[in-house]
Amino acid sequence: MKVHVPAGSSQCAVVVGCQWGDEGKGKIVDVLAERMDVVARYQGGANAGHTVHVGDREFILHQIPSGILHPEKRCLLGNGVVLDMIQFFQEYDALLERGVDVADRVGVSLRAHLLLPYHRILDRAVEDRAEEKIGTTGRGIGPAYEDKAGRRGLRVADLRNEDRFRELMDRGIQRARARLQALGMEGDHGLEEALETVLALRGRLLELATDTGIEVEEALAQGKQVLLEGAQGTALDLDHGTYPFVTSSNTTAAAAATGVGVGPTRIQSVLGVVKAYTTRVGNGPLPTEFDPEMDDRMRTLGGEFGATTGRPRRCGWFDAVLARHAARVNGLTGLAVTKLDVLDSLPQISVATGYRTPEGEVEEFPADTAGLEAAEPILETLPGWEASTGEARSLDDLPTNARKYLDRVEELTGAPIEMVSVGTRRSQIIRVA
Ligand code: GDP
Repeated sequence: MKVHVPAGSSQCAVVVGCQWGDEGKGKIVDVLAERMDVVARYQGGANAGHTVHVGDREFILHQIPSGILHPEKRCLLGNGVVLDMIQFFQEYDALLERGVDVADRVGVSLRAHLLLPYHRILDRAVEDRAEEKIGTTGRGIGPAYEDKAGRRGLRVADLRNEDRFRELMDRGIQRARARLQALGMEGDHGLEEALETVLALRGRLLELATDTGIEVEEALAQGKQVLLEGAQGTALDLDHGTYPFVTSSNTTAAAAATGVGVGPTRIQSVLGVVKAYTTRVGNGPLPTEFDPEMDDRMRTLGGEFGATTGRPRRCGWFDAVLARHAARVNGLTGLAVTKLDVLDSLPQISVATGYRTPEGEVEEFPADTAGLEAAEPILETLPGWEASTGEARSLDDLPTNARKYLDRVEELTGAPIEMVSVGTRRSQIIRVA
């Protein structure tokens, strides 16, 4: 029998979102990071926004792993990440200004692709003109990954040779200009100045450049603990999400190995983060979506506004069909349920156990996104607990109905609950395993 190692005590753990992102991964990573030596991001870019509360202070991190808020942890950005240098150093300097000791603690993969100013401009231009909008964050992520897959991207390692870098970026600028022109946007879009802004940061970035695969491998060999942190969530995965309403990278756990540069056999545990209900930013299906009145209520109760864009999030009941899909495609070994406290005031709480589709009832997450748009959730309704959970520090402290709700979530998802978050503060956590 396989021995279950909880994420907190495993040598190499992945933390992955199991819905449409915004599950509260930042807080879970922050709590787990206390026990870790290295925290590495494996995909995504500045489109992710993790909000972490430390005492009275709120930090919103877009690219730097939230492990940075614990002294002495090494924080890496893996090769699977697309790095926006300008935004990265804004974040880095803001942390320095707020007294976070970042020096010698951040490493960026030499193989990471650079997200350049023209990627942002293209992202917005394409989305503005799209017939079917994806609802991107406009941060340039899609175009940067397109260049990566198209083998015309620029990587951190390319910064080593300034002349060559200028030449490559100049080609990128010409291509971007041609595309913008084809979209009816004439002009130079300030791209030459942008090249100089990027080059001005070259020296600083090279000082942080490293081989993240080697670093992680060495840390593991020394018996250190490593946490691999994903951005967005399973339903936004390029392959396993609600395509085309997805992000441009693989968000799921297998990408953690590729995205930092270690083999999949190094990963010991995969902790899936689910919110006790569901939210989604941007367009695309959300089968358990509330009616407008309830949507408003949950958005207010849960503070469901995007950390990156401030956009209101769409809200719905917990979707066990999606959670089961996530458990399978990520190979979850454990579950962290967040924002349980947000449900405290509700008299009744529902969960979707299946969907009614034009083809009949299904229990598996459909591959066909148009079909998913037409799906109606099959809801099971449980009694609420109508009591505060924010002070609970063990499952025994929870009201009976809250425990029953968690038991049902665990049963339907098929992964054991290891943690339950009951508030924004670090201390508001129930550790089950
Ligand atoms: P992430 O991208 O998955 O880290 O999610 P976000 O940071 O966008 O959203 C999580 C938000 O929920 C942040 O504002 C957190 O402070 C907050 N949060 C996390 N866990 C809990 C919780 O258990 N209860 C409540 N009320 N808020 C939480």
